[in-house]
Amino acid sequence: MDTNDKLYSSKFKTADIKLGYGCNDKCVHCVVEKLRDIAIQNKHLDLKTDEYLKEIDKVISDGIKRIVVTGGEPTIRKDFPIIIDYINSFGIEIFLQTNGRFLSNSNLIDKIKNKINTYIIALHGPNETIHDIVTQSSNSFNQTVQGIKNVVKIGGNVCGKTVISKLNYKTLLQTCKLYNKLGVKEIYIAYPHSSGEIDYLKKIAPTYTQIKPYIEQCLTWAIENNINLKLESILPCNLDKEFPIKYYYDFTEFLAQKKYKMLDENYGSWEEFTKMDKKKDFSKCQKCVFNNFCNGIWHEYTNLYGFEQIRPITKIHDKSNLKF
Ligand code: SF4
Repeated sequence: MDTNDKLYSSKFKTADIKLGYGCNDKCVHCVVEKLRDIAIQNKHLDLKTDEYLKEIDKVISDGIKRIVVTGGEPTIRKDFPIIIDYINSFGIEIFLQTNGRFLSNSNLIDKIKNKINTYIIALHGPNETIHDIVTQSSNSFNQTVQGIKNVVKIGGNVCGKTVISKLNYKTLLQTCKLYNKLGVKEIYIAYPHSSGEIDYLKKIAPTYTQIKPYIEQCLTWAIENNINLKLESILPCNLDKEFPIKYYYDFTEFLAQKKYKMLDENYGSWEEFTKMDKKKDFSKCQKCVFNNFCNGIWHEYTNLYGFEQIRPITKIHDKSNLKF
């Protein structure tokens, strides 16, 4: 399987720019739902075309080499091809974060063909039953799968992104296998982030203990089949077995100096962003070999369950596991 290693190189400074909050799915784990409600109240759901183009100008003058176009759902906007053409005119890389449903439309594919470097497409289950319950949108699985097929057919680079929830964690391996069958080059599995909401966490997220065997199953499969898998907000101390550090996205991102732009918020680095929202147990983490480049786990998780599931890694048994 090909890799996207330059994604983790500090030479490729990246800015995530949110177009807004409008979306054609209603995922149970959606982190922007609350922000979306506030934006609707403020009548500022999505950036207007000229506002978005100005954001692009700003990050380009900052020396950014890659823009992640994200939302909400970027592809549902009428000006989506205009935005892609505009970024493309600067010759910088474009990553598109999407639910992939509109990519099932071949007219849209024709307009953006060869202009996007990487498509990050979200599948939240291995079949219609699970995926459509997570997205709360009927026919979303079939459209997303068709979207992935269309992008692969035009030679596009696809990364798969699955957010863990109580609805899908037992089928993570099947979802990974489906991505692989569809020709996806890289797979991300992310632990959900509730921006501090404890009730959300109780309702949506399984515990690290619950997901552990399923995550270890995916990692074992990825190693055996040379699959480029990345875990987001799941750390070595949350698992029992020792796995190579390159599978932990938090550590690789930390080294990439990524920049962020949320609608209505200022830029910050990945490090600043996660430092605000993640927590460590210093008495334990000080003893951990990863202490210097780890920001810990989402603070709402520690508020609900404490630090029980943080067990410092004091020894690496296989030194080759430390290679990125
Ligand atoms: S530094 Fe702390 S939170 Fe990070 S991996 Fe080690 S024990 Fe876990």
